[in-house]
Amino acid sequence: MKLPQFDYQAPASLSEAVALLMAGNGDARPLSGGQSILPIMAFRLAEPSLLVDLRNIPDLRGIEISAAGVRIGAMVRWRDILDNAQLKVVLPLLPEAIEHVAHYQVRNRGTIGGSLAHADPASEMPAVALALDAVIEVVGAKGKRDIAAGDLFTGSLSTSLSHDEIIVAVRFPAWPAARAYAFEEFARRRGDFALAGVAACYDVDAQGRAKNVRVSALSIADTPIRLKAAEAAMEGRVMDADAIKAASAAASAEVDPAGDIHASARYRKALVGTLLGRALTRAAARTAR
Ligand SMILES: Cc1cc2nc3c(=O)[nH]c(=O)nc-3n(C[C@H](O)[C@H](O)[C@H](O)COP(=O)(O)OP(=O)(O)OC[C@H]3O[C@@H](n4cnc5c(N)ncnc54)[C@H](O)[C@@H]3O)c2cc1C
Repeated sequence: MKLPQFDYQAPASLSEAVALLMAGNGDARPLSGGQSILPIMAFRLAEPSLLVDLRNIPDLRGIEISAAGVRIGAMVRWRDILDNAQLKVVLPLLPEAIEHVAHYQVRNRGTIGGSLAHADPASEMPAVALALDAVIEVVGAKGKRDIAAGDLFTGSLSTSLSHDEIIVAVRFPAWPAARAYAFEEFARRRGDFALAGVAACYDVDAQGRAKNVRVSALSIADTPIRLKAAEAAMEGRVMDADAIKAASAAASAEVDPAGDIHASARYRKALVGTLLGRALTRAAARTAR
């Protein structure tokens, strides 16, 4: 389908971009990789009168790695994340999850900021941001603010961003040395949106017990969700076969997914437990090395 008519601006600074969004009064939208907004416009699910292309704004670019953690600019593309060898060491859960995002062509254009703003509950990035306690840096007409990932997603394709706010970057806390992690999802074909997925990580103490457990799930609710019963089942335990079984059962029991044409609610409920079991088995094997 052809796109509806719209105006297009590509400002060179954040302040100009914010001013354009303000003037649009909710009818102007940022454009990053265009991999979600353009299909939505083609389907007439959104008809903004103005797209504000963020491509010329240098403040939105770059991956910074320091002792404090990792900061990734909003316009960093999936491809940039996968091509960054350091990220595989300092934030390995992120590239492991992003491997599952779409196909080569989409990964060459889609951005981390666009994905967070789009807030698709079936997307990998929002669930990873939740599991890793990421902080989203935002700028708008009222100035700058930080939003915890847990406060960003308010519903399917909905966020707490106001219409004049732009995601500038995402910050991830430093990755502890003894951290186990894994990302698992199931999709009918590789690269499709997942029927369900889980991101899991935990620190391992001197006795080999799991601490600071974080488990999140995608494609299970209107937003990515923390699986708190599964986390509680893991916290303080050595992640042996019994602990993994208990966490998987807790995950299946605590979720209340909807069924759709892709999978029934019952199937998704079982799938979450299965995926968490797979993730924790791989995570435990990583720390055993
Ligand atoms: C065939 C296909 C398959 C896909 N499969 C997957 C998949 O498996 N997993 C997955 O996660 N995604 C998938 N996607 C989506 C893809 O990852 C998108 O790139 C991503 O969701 C949005 O990023 P974008 O940069 O393209 O954003 P855009 O499409 O440019 O924008 C998306 C939304 O975010 C807003 N926005 C963009 N940037 C900002 C910003 N910096 N601040 C505030 N608001 C902003 C826009 O106004 C718009 O509302 C798929 C897309 C396609 C076309």
